[in-house]
Amino acid sequence: MQETGLKNQSFNLESIGLRHNANSYWNLSPEQLLEHTVKLNQGLLASSGALVVDTGKFKGRAPKDKFTVRDTKTENTVDWNNVNISIEPQQFDNLYKKVLSYLADKDIWVRDSYACADPKYRLNIRVINEHPWGNLFCYNMFLRPTNEEIKSMNPDWYIINAPGFHASPQEDGTRSDNFSAIDFTKRIILIGGTGYTGEMKKGIFTVLNYWLPQEKGVLSMHCSANVGDTDDTAVFFGLSGTGKTTLSADSNRRLIGDDEHGWTENTIFNFEGGCYAKCVNLTQENEPQIYNAIKRGAILENTEFYPGTNTVDFKNISKTENTRVSYPIEFIENIMVPSIGGLPKNIFFLTCDAFGVLPPISKLTPGQAMYQFLSGYTAKVAGTEAGVTEPQLTFSTCFGAPFLPLHPTKYAELFGEKMRKHNVNVWLINTGWTGGPYGVGKRMKLSYTRAMITAALNGKLDRVEFKNHEVFGLMMPVTCPNVPHEILDPRDTWADKSAYDEKANNLATQFVKNFEKYAAKANDEIMNAAPRVVAKVE
Ligand code: ATP
Ligand code: MN
Repeated sequence: MQETGLKNQSFNLESIGLRHNANSYWNLSPEQLLEHTVKLNQGLLASSGALVVDTGKFKGRAPKDKFTVRDTKTENTVDWNNVNISIEPQQFDNLYKKVLSYLADKDIWVRDSYACADPKYRLNIRVINEHPWGNLFCYNMFLRPTNEEIKSMNPDWYIINAPGFHASPQEDGTRSDNFSAIDFTKRIILIGGTGYTGEMKKGIFTVLNYWLPQEKGVLSMHCSANVGDTDDTAVFFGLSGTGKTTLSADSNRRLIGDDEHGWTENTIFNFEGGCYAKCVNLTQENEPQIYNAIKRGAILENTEFYPGTNTVDFKNISKTENTRVSYPIEFIENIMVPSIGGLPKNIFFLTCDAFGVLPPISKLTPGQAMYQFLSGYTAKVAGTEAGVTEPQLTFSTCFGAPFLPLHPTKYAELFGEKMRKHNVNVWLINTGWTGGPYGVGKRMKLSYTRAMITAALNGKLDRVEFKNHEVFGLMMPVTCPNVPHEILDPRDTWADKSAYDEKANNLATQFVKNFEKYAAKANDEIMNAAPRVVAKVE
């Protein structure tokens, strides 16, 4: 039994209730963690040098198994709903004790890190991992303190990550044997039964979404961000798979971050120190920055090799469609150091509309921006599931419902205030289908989406003609540099116009229905931005 590595010597594990009887490895280097992972047969090295791991049964987040402790602190502040599911403090304490006794005789990897690139909001995090690759994930994704800082580090929050521990639903009151539980009073995130690394990063995101808007007046956002040559910051909101990571990696702009940011009085800052990119169908040609970041130190999750080689086949999604890679942000060539930019000039709402209804780019009025922000629309395609052909509609408020502990109006009010005060241009980008719905049309070409965003950023759309979308009222440019004008109005891309009109009406109806819950609080300006369902003439 031994302690190895660098740590704050005044801290011992017993102080948090862990009577540890095995090896503990503190703040090891990526190289050491890589070696441990390979030696323990928990991962393999790909030809690019990246580490490839299998995250086990869970290859994505489990939102139904995410719990929040309900106590005097959270009772009246958390918006209790189907993504903020309560457990009693007693339940949490029991689980905590069980997890610690599970870890007592196992080797553990401990990491000191922090969130928030702006020092004013720095949140120190100590992670205890059952697996070395889980610890390397935290090295990649959170911000990295210096060795000097580590020696005196005292964490604000703990993450205890025990994928091999299984809860008992009868005894522990969980839904299943896996769980991710947050205790805002004790400041602990407890994860068991799942090895999906994204639970750790999105756990801390949830913490920041609770703390920053309430106590600091900072808007926390599920978005990517980058900065151009004239120091103009752009922010890209969007749900999973809509293109935040892909579109923010732009060789002409410095990356601030790919997923989580805060908006202060005068800055946009990254919460994280790394990126977590989707790998499905990744090519060097389409996404060179991301492709080139997949080198020694990066961790690939749930990818497969070409048979008989250790070369990754990014088209192979036999384990999951959600194959991922994590790497420190420095692996991207053109980045902002530190990860802080000025106030945003442009905001893009990314949606992957699999119905092929929304225009590929449109400009929003402030009322429309509020309406779309509260709606948080995207559509997921059914993927590989047999027999399922219809895309799934999703409304996820503020483009991030699963990570928002507070009521959506808290974020929307801050968003509205800041957008107006700083006169930000807001654009809606459909990275989804064109020429028809999923099954008929195809996904918008990435190069076209990039060209539209570039045109918006460079002011090339300031002087072009716009026309209004009949149902959604969105302003669509009639021309755009480097984009065929025929694709700018989605109705033009459909062979069957009446089929388009019907789909547009259907989608509008869903928007209106979803918005009913906000109607009472929304003013006329926002309500006037609702799509208009055209009455059917028989
Ligand atoms: P998450 O929140 O899960 O990290 P994300 O918003 O970062 O999701 P990306 O990782 O950027 O999403 O995923 C977008 C995926 O869609 C990528 O695999 C990308 O290659 C693909 N794609 C295809 N066409 C487009 C397009 N026109 N615009 C953006 N992405 C596209
Ligand atoms: Mn992403």
